[in-house]
Amino acid sequence: MKRIGLFGGSFNPIHIGHLALANYLCEFSHLDEVWFMVSPQNPLKRNAQLWDDDLRLELARLATEDYPKFKVCDIEFQLPRPSFTIHTLNALKETYPNHEFTLIIGADNWALFPRWRSADEIIARHKVLVYPRPGYEVDKDELPPSITLVETPLLEVSSTFIRESLEAGKDVRYFVHPKVWERIIKLQKSLI
Ligand code: ATP
Repeated sequence: MKRIGLFGGSFNPIHIGHLALANYLCEFSHLDEVWFMVSPQNPLKRNAQLWDDDLRLELARLATEDYPKFKVCDIEFQLPRPSFTIHTLNALKETYPNHEFTLIIGADNWALFPRWRSADEIIARHKVLVYPRPGYEVDKDELPPSITLVETPLLEVSSTFIRESLEAGKDVRYFVHPKVWERIIKLQKSLI
């Protein structure tokens, strides 16, 4: 049985904050692997800031392909949209009955978790790992027993910072994986 951490997001684009966190969890927590689950564009919420699904997936693959404990998961592209995490977790469990999935959630998203579709069912049926984000306190004593709070190093980077820096013509290559930077630079004119 493999213990897989599921790290969902728009990854628009994937950056060193995502990669360092996932790397840390693979090496210093109970997880064997982390799967980056790229979420598709919500067709009801078209957002010009959101790069194409295929590009976000491609960049995530480029950033993760050198490290055997990372995988990119595109299951939400095959599921009905909008994708709700509970459906994704159930579909994954069915496809990979021998894996144990743990949802990885930042403290920022944890604050919103009660509003997620079937939040109670997620907690009842799946493991959840909450990690710190700057500005969001988590009270360890208030967490349900299936939720683990992990201490991780914090890197203050966001995809928004990367996109805005590109728009401003800044060279922020060290905030993304070198292969991601190379690809972005080739496409830069069409992205901004
Ligand atoms: P944006 O700036 O476009 O909102 P983002 O950088 O927050 O994007 P997401 O794709 O929304 O990236 O992130 C996916 C997940 O990664 C989210 O749960 C988010 O909380 C987390 N995350 C984002 N940045 C970091 C970081 N620097 N360190 C650890 N986790 C991060």
